[in-house]
Amino acid sequence: MAVVARPTATADRVAVSRPEVTAYIALGANLGEPAQALRDALRELGSTSGVRLVRASSLYRTAPVDSSGPDYLNAVAEISTTLTAPALLDALQAIEQQAGRERPYRNAPRTLDLDLLLYGDARIDSPRLTVPHPRMGERAFVLLPLAEIAPALVSAAQRQAVTGQRIDKMD
Ligand code: ATP
Ligand code: MG
Ligand code: MG
Repeated sequence: MAVVARPTATADRVAVSRPEVTAYIALGANLGEPAQALRDALRELGSTSGVRLVRASSLYRTAPVDSSGPDYLNAVAEISTTLTAPALLDALQAIEQQAGRERPYRNAPRTLDLDLLLYGDARIDSPRLTVPHPRMGERAFVLLPLAEIAPALVSAAQRQAVTGQRIDKMD
């Protein structure tokens, strides 16, 4: 008699496959070696379990907005992920920690900031996570790199609203 192996349906042994969600991450740094920090962060993001790096914008040099210190380098990455939004935030914060991120005060200069801009079309308002990112529409350093990789997500009016902010696309 043929013996058919069946998976046992205990909760810890059944692999639950989650749908892939397209998400956008803002990267920023203005302390240490910002270009290296952003490149390292993109590599770390792409090698995170449950995350696939789809594309990344150019790097942009920007004047601090709501912050201080040297100019920032910023970029935006598109990922496809099977992580939940809170698990993705955990992963982003782990990469920030690895880059030596410190938070001495709000909006302090930083070695690396990774913010979750969009997670599919989800709207999230929890104590530790707000999505879409509540300040993305005020920031040229988010909107311009986002428009470079996902033009349909940024309207002409949104671009117009941030034209006063200094931002230079790097080669
Ligand atoms: P800003 O949010 O204005 O860009 P920031 O990035 O400097 O400021 P952080 O110190 O990096 O702020 O994060 C502060 C807290 O923001 C985090 O502990 C996190 O829980 C929370 N947070 C809420 N929504 C988001 C989001 N969409 N992406 C990243 N962090 C978020
Ligand atoms: Mg931020
Ligand atoms: Mg942040």
